[in-house]
Amino acid sequence: MPEVMEVDDLRWVCAGCGIAISNLEISGEVYGQYIEYMTHGRGEANFVYCPDCWESLKENLGTDIRIAIDRRRRIIEDDEKQRRDTYREPEKETTRHLGVNRMEEEES
Ligand SMILES: [Zn+2]
Repeated sequence: MPEVMEVDDLRWVCAGCGIAISNLEISGEVYGQYIEYMTHGRGEANFVYCPDCWESLKENLGTDIRIAIDRRRRIIEDDEKQRRDTYREPEKETTRHLGVNRMEEEES
């Protein structure tokens, strides 16, 4: 795909990656009815894809379910590892030396 195009030629947005593409760069198109499960919305959709996203879409649709389950498990494990690596538990504060919430009885 050429990196620089005339802006006037860029009339479409790739449904996969969101880049602007020209008519000549459309590698695939999906046309049909859709259902949006969260809102129960229905309608017709017309999605165009750049070459990279079209290849990725075809590859994903052809993926064996066992490989897809393993891929999902690895993504979750990587996210958990990244969260552990970036988040450090703050040191616990102690009130022992601050005298907070301590009651002392006065002798009379
Ligand atoms: Zn794309």
